[in-house]
Amino acid sequence: MPQAILSLFESTGAYLTGHFRLTSGLHSPEYLQSALVLQHPRYAEQLGASLAAALVALTAPARIGLVAAPALGGLIIGHEVARALDVPFVFTERGATGDMLLRRGFQIEAGINAVVIEDVVTTGGSTREVIAILKNLDAHVLAAGSIIDRSDGQADVGVPRAALETMRVISYDPSNCPLCREGSTAVKPGSRN
Ligand code: ZN
Repeated sequence: MPQAILSLFESTGAYLTGHFRLTSGLHSPEYLQSALVLQHPRYAEQLGASLAAALVALTAPARIGLVAAPALGGLIIGHEVARALDVPFVFTERGATGDMLLRRGFQIEAGINAVVIEDVVTTGGSTREVIAILKNLDAHVLAAGSIIDRSDGQADVGVPRAALETMRVISYDPSNCPLCREGSTAVKPGSRN
């Protein structure tokens, strides 16, 4: 990652090193806990403004009319992108069965130009789920954005993507993990605190 974003993640404790068990089941020596950056409203606002500018550049001359994001990870940065664009922000959330849902009485205007925001894209799975909901409601999804793209640009969500930083996730199958071989145990990020 270029220095500005990496420094921000490091200085706020959001760039963790150790031995982590990712949601995918893979093990990794590093983890990005973006909530630790975004707990600072000043940084959240700056990152949101930067991401909004990147999305405007990506989607011009179309005008973005709505920002949507999956809870919980996308809530703060999605809100800040929407603030910078001065457009409404809506969020999706998982129901009891694990399905991604648009609740809370949010109404999507047919034909509106929307963008979908996540904090960190790894596979793009959550972004794809939000895009599917919006398209099902006849919104026009112009693009997707994230603070960080951990897929090294590989995640395909079906629309153009913007990210403030792109990196390649270092991950190991548990059966072939050098950290496990050294005798340490992988922890779920956040569980130690
Ligand atoms: Zn391991």
